[in-house]
Amino acid sequence: MSSLLKSIFDRNPGESEFHQAVEEVYETVEKVIKKNPQYQKAKIFERMTEPERLISFRVTWVDDKGDVQVNKGYRVQMNSAIGPYKGGLRFHPSVNPSILKFLAFEQIFKNALTGLPMGGGKGGSDFNPKGKSDGEVMRFCQAFMSELSKHIGHRLDVPAGDIGVGGREIGYMFGAYKKMQNEFTGVLTGKGQGWGGSLIRPEATGYGLVYFAQNMLAEQNDSLNGKTCLVSGSGNVAQFAMKKLLILGAKPVTASDSSGYIYDEDGISSEKLDFIMELKNEKRGRISEYADKFKSAKFFANDTKSDHNPMWAIKADCAFPCATQNEINIKDAKNLIAGGVKLLAEGANMPTMSDAIVELLKAGVNYAPGKASNAGGVATSGLEMVQNYSGIYWTREEVDTRLREIMKGIHDSCLQASKEYGMDGNYQAGANIAGFVKVANAMVAQGII
Ligand code: GLU
Repeated sequence: MSSLLKSIFDRNPGESEFHQAVEEVYETVEKVIKKNPQYQKAKIFERMTEPERLISFRVTWVDDKGDVQVNKGYRVQMNSAIGPYKGGLRFHPSVNPSILKFLAFEQIFKNALTGLPMGGGKGGSDFNPKGKSDGEVMRFCQAFMSELSKHIGHRLDVPAGDIGVGGREIGYMFGAYKKMQNEFTGVLTGKGQGWGGSLIRPEATGYGLVYFAQNMLAEQNDSLNGKTCLVSGSGNVAQFAMKKLLILGAKPVTASDSSGYIYDEDGISSEKLDFIMELKNEKRGRISEYADKFKSAKFFANDTKSDHNPMWAIKADCAFPCATQNEINIKDAKNLIAGGVKLLAEGANMPTMSDAIVELLKAGVNYAPGKASNAGGVATSGLEMVQNYSGIYWTREEVDTRLREIMKGIHDSCLQASKEYGMDGNYQAGANIAGFVKVANAMVAQGII
């Protein structure tokens, strides 16, 4: 391991997800750093891996029984070289500084790739919204915002949703911020229709993912039409990825949640997808209910003792991991290859482990890293910010057209950067290099700060 990486790891002990994300980027940008003495002199990589600011706070709230609850709250303001900090909030029991730093670090490059002026940030809490009443979620969001509001602003740091934070939570947090600050600004994105939200924002990550895959296939004179697709997750990203896949004639056959996965050999049709959406968005139920309702499907509960996820062994053409980090290990990668998968595009952040990526690339699988392929969500957040600043709102078609163009732009800049550095067609290297160079140049220009 290089001494630079070692010193970063030593400075951030025990933060395995953060180490993983940093190492993955470093391996592909090392060449660029070596070729550009100005990056070395200004210690760009060392600075990029140290948050500009990390806020950690206590969130105290009262549950329905009247008991006091205490949670951890965070905001990682990672890099503001090209714009205000921008990135989601995650509410999940696994949330800790390592996970948020990996996400905030990834966000720097992802946001740069969109071509919009957004820096990198991420935040959240170890609060678990699962099983909580609406009132509990609202009180938690208000308590969380009572501290976060002191550190964000529409020109400073603009959070949005991530796992466990959707339209409902954004609404409660926005209401709390407006009340406390006594101002109506676009301080959060992912807002609802009629109060500052952008059309297509709910669809954007999933749609953008599929647009990206379309571009990858078009490079090889191929299309999604008729392709069997494995999709993991059943939240916002998975739902709209499946919706777009169906529109383009592909056949999604799987979906999952933390309890397990369903396999529907006949395909998840748009009527069946409507069922998933209602189940997950309104009833907040479990994916196993899909198999109770549709006899063509089978539910497989998670086997925590297994060293692989059998879902990734199902025969298919394409895979879209849309659940969470590290959901595909090396064994899963081997199974995907054996099952005929030729394209894997990440809807989640860092769902594929580093050795699994190496395996996929070795086998010639067309692989797209999340920081490129799932950037449609934050890109449309950027479009929401523009609409908030100007006060003029665009139609669905206008936003969708811009989203398509942005995804094509990201796709092309990944390919161009990969070519420039002799790794032709490697989207992983291309995404890291293109994102890195943009932010590095801005940092050099702005001096030692
Ligand atoms: N959480 C999303 C992401 O990982 C969206 C962030 C945003 O819209 O700010 O990119």
